[in-house]
Amino acid sequence: MDVIRLLPDQVANQIAAGEVIQRPASCLKELVENSLDAGATHIRVFVRDAGRTLLQVTDNGSGMSETDVRMAFERHATSKIREAADLFALHTMGFRGEALPSISAVAHVEVMTRRQEDEMGTLLELAGGNVIRQEPCQCPVGTNIKVKDLFYNVPVRRKFLKTDQTELRNLQVAFHHIVLVYPQVQFTFIHNDEVLEDLPATTEKQRIENVFGKSSSKAYTSQLVEIAADTDIVSIRGFVGKPEAAGRNAQQYFFVNGRYMRHPYFHKAVMNAYAGMLPGELMPSYFVYFDILPEAIDVNIHPTKTEIKFRDEQAVFQILAAAVREALGKFNLSPSLDFDRSGEVEMPITNGTTSVSLPKVSFDPNYNPFKASASQRTTHAVSSWEKLYSPIPAEQPEATPLFATDWSDAPVWQYGQYILIPTEEGLCFVHQHRAHVCILYHQLLQQIEQMRGVSQQLLFQEVLALPNEDMTLLESVVDDLRAVGFDLVQFDRNSYSLAGTPAVLNGADGISVLHDILSELHSSGTDVREQWRHRIAMVLAERAAIPSGKRLTDDEMRDLMQKLTALNLYKHTPDGKTVLWLLNDKELQSKFL
Ligand code: ADP
Ligand code: MG
Repeated sequence: MDVIRLLPDQVANQIAAGEVIQRPASCLKELVENSLDAGATHIRVFVRDAGRTLLQVTDNGSGMSETDVRMAFERHATSKIREAADLFALHTMGFRGEALPSISAVAHVEVMTRRQEDEMGTLLELAGGNVIRQEPCQCPVGTNIKVKDLFYNVPVRRKFLKTDQTELRNLQVAFHHIVLVYPQVQFTFIHNDEVLEDLPATTEKQRIENVFGKSSSKAYTSQLVEIAADTDIVSIRGFVGKPEAAGRNAQQYFFVNGRYMRHPYFHKAVMNAYAGMLPGELMPSYFVYFDILPEAIDVNIHPTKTEIKFRDEQAVFQILAAAVREALGKFNLSPSLDFDRSGEVEMPITNGTTSVSLPKVSFDPNYNPFKASASQRTTHAVSSWEKLYSPIPAEQPEATPLFATDWSDAPVWQYGQYILIPTEEGLCFVHQHRAHVCILYHQLLQQIEQMRGVSQQLLFQEVLALPNEDMTLLESVVDDLRAVGFDLVQFDRNSYSLAGTPAVLNGADGISVLHDILSELHSSGTDVREQWRHRIAMVLAERAAIPSGKRLTDDEMRDLMQKLTALNLYKHTPDGKTVLWLLNDKELQSKFL
């Protein structure tokens, strides 16, 4: 008896579908890419229930003939490639003829499509890969494709889907990956009758603004600077965020030849260029578009993979890092200090909207701890590209305190939650709670890293009982928690006992702080240890810092300022809030005209 049999097409298609269509977002990507390949200039996406019940894409592209639309759902039917060699000269998005058959294998599909030259369009309906209806229909030029009840016949896949909220976010991410490279195409995205994106055809920069600038009153793109590098190897253009605009939810995108890609190594190149400019865990946004000869990259023909291998990876790394550094330098954003004869220190700071310069502090003009190193310091302004090609030095720029001063006699006042410091340029306001957060955060981070947190023993042990998933999370961070002073011992399968808390908490409720930390780690959704540590330090610092408006003595204020200004970066808290603001004399005088 024969044992080898061919899989029925239906089954083969379902298996292949699992590779191409993993979730509604992959379906959206394939459909929208097809619309773009068809030359559409207006593409609309309608979604219901995060794509579970409906995902519809309507375009004004070329449309398909009656035969072509039938063919389109046959495996490996594609109008875009004739031989394997074409794979390396790809200018279209799809090329394997797999998307439509895969989608129709796991959903109900309804297509209406018409070409310009045809009077009537075609309506085609499929279920589980089989055509169940085909007839002429009246419809506009272009293609309108509805994918209903995704995975209706693959319960395992359906169960594998995340919450609607997560799947919707995945859909939007997939959508952004595309709209950011096709600013000349108009896009709409509607979810459950709510218009989530309405993007007119425009420039690259304005597209970024339209996608990410919705929630804020000031222009999103005003926080970006342009980068550009044109070389034989690669041409790079795009935008990178100003350091002071760095945040927790940075937008970071690489595109190569019009396609989104992930590239951890190039990410490092960008981050290297920011070395020493970013507080704590904050990340800069970037939108970087690479153009490169197709033969210089390894086209990964797997449709769901977004990693791409570059032939001259190291060279591209250097060019990218240099381009970012040059852009930051050109806009005078990299840290550079000017020293004049009186030893005053000046550095641009920003309060988020306008750039102001920091007070010249000159309580003690002879005291300048940086004098020795000032002459060795080099700025990042680079004039020629030749120079830029030299490898980026690995070391970080040294710490650059702003106030070169001894605070022991400095005049300070308290007003509400602020410390007021008169300076030559105006009145400096320091948010005392946030200043303290900065100080504690850095101390705590060091304690975690050096495993020398100070613990304060509790009179009575407490029990931290947790659901399973939190136990797993806690287990993975327990060493860091111990390092910062939580005396935790596993008690049983679902609980830990707590015998001591970090001294910095000063007896505050340790159990509730631990819950805060866990929920912070949960919501951050990161599994990078470095980031966990930042977040642990941040939660603790927030809890332990002096409350806003607490009355401080002059010496306490001076002590706070001394410690604050000894930090490398202190204009913003690690999560990006303003710590320090200057009311300059000009502004003040303008009120007395
Ligand atoms: P691929 O995109 O890899 O060719 P697909 O399965 O995604 O494979 O699509 C199969 C074919 O169907 C395409 O090559 C194209 O000719 C046609 N097609 C799909 N979507 C559209 C569309 N929106 N407009 C016009 N033609 C389309
Ligand atoms: Mg395709």
